[in-house]
Amino acid sequence: MNYNLETELIHRGNHPEEQGGYVSPPLFRGSTVLYRTIQEMQESANDKMKMQNRVYGRFGSPNSRNFESVLAGLENGFGTVCTVSGLSAITTAIMTFVQTGDHLLVSDSVYFPTRRFCDSLARFGITTEYFDPCLGAEIATKLRPETRLVFLESPGSMTFEIQDIPTIAKVCRARGVISLIDNTWATPLFFKPLDFGVNISIHSATKYITGHADSFLGAIVCDQSTYAQVRSTAIDLGQKAGAEDVHLALRGLRTLSVRLKQHDENGRALANWLQTQPEVESVCHPALPSHPQHHLWKRDFTGACGLFSFQFKTAVSKESIGQFVNALKIFGIGHSWGGFESLIAPVQISEHRQFIPDQQEPSRSLRLHAGLESVEDLKEDLTQAFQVLR
Ligand SMILES: *Cc1c(COP(=O)(O)O)cnc(C)c1O
Repeated sequence: MNYNLETELIHRGNHPEEQGGYVSPPLFRGSTVLYRTIQEMQESANDKMKMQNRVYGRFGSPNSRNFESVLAGLENGFGTVCTVSGLSAITTAIMTFVQTGDHLLVSDSVYFPTRRFCDSLARFGITTEYFDPCLGAEIATKLRPETRLVFLESPGSMTFEIQDIPTIAKVCRARGVISLIDNTWATPLFFKPLDFGVNISIHSATKYITGHADSFLGAIVCDQSTYAQVRSTAIDLGQKAGAEDVHLALRGLRTLSVRLKQHDENGRALANWLQTQPEVESVCHPALPSHPQHHLWKRDFTGACGLFSFQFKTAVSKESIGQFVNALKIFGIGHSWGGFESLIAPVQISEHRQFIPDQQEPSRSLRLHAGLESVEDLKEDLTQAFQVLR
């Protein structure tokens, strides 16, 4: 039977009858898993993928297998691999495919630590070239015979460019190049990259999936052609997601849909309201018609999360922007996002960025995460901070 997404999120992969009738699954901790017989132990030694329940804790637990299969189901993947953090999911996925002499094409808008990692591969003789996230079919002109993979992120970290994913994925497929995307912003609910031809979708489950700013987890959702290799690399690297973190992520998944509806509603309400403030030059939110790639967002995404940025007019001094941030009472000043609480932080763009949208001046931009508070309270908080600035 095919259920709607909200129902799937609540029930998929949950089997109360196998857990003593309890609605929520128990948390499995442990390294040693006992075999029933010596034969069973020998059989597991021959299982290269270590997919059985009885192996060794590092290869997974009932909780991680459950989380992995639910996530793969949500994004129509063949399988998912959990890792310790979003960044480790990115590095593990990239490490799976690269070797000396390879050329990587990476969107200039990627999360800065992704860029740092790709640059570090130079010591193995792997070259990374950054491309303008606004390229579509022109990505073909960047592909070389030695290009191994194309790494995407949409919207881009900090600058929120939406990429033409189906077009880029099609070019990659035609040329036998693997495409990967950091899909953290959209979550599995608002964009399903594999449906658009991308091979691998990566999440920092630390953000919305866990949703409470209390754990770290990464997830790599793979299509059939890439799953075995990624799983094998994660095993070789000793990637092991923490038991508690997986448990919290699975718990977070159950409420992802209701939380995201509210993050989306609050985010759009704040974005629209900020646009009307005299000190604000522009608001960069993919769901606003003023966003340069709004048409692509509208075509491919089914919603927006609560993360966007806005820019002050040049008449507003940088000191006053600092005073504005310090005056906020509900918004926390902090890294990360995707938790229940509202956050604000300056937009930080690496000095290595080559393609920055003209309308965005990083030093006058703030990145805002709309949390689950009352949007009226959030507006009031911003209003009193604007008064301090004025
Ligand atoms: C936070 C973040 C990551 C890294 O996730 P961690 O779980 O903190 O390692 C990767 N990509 C994006 C877009 C992020 O915002």
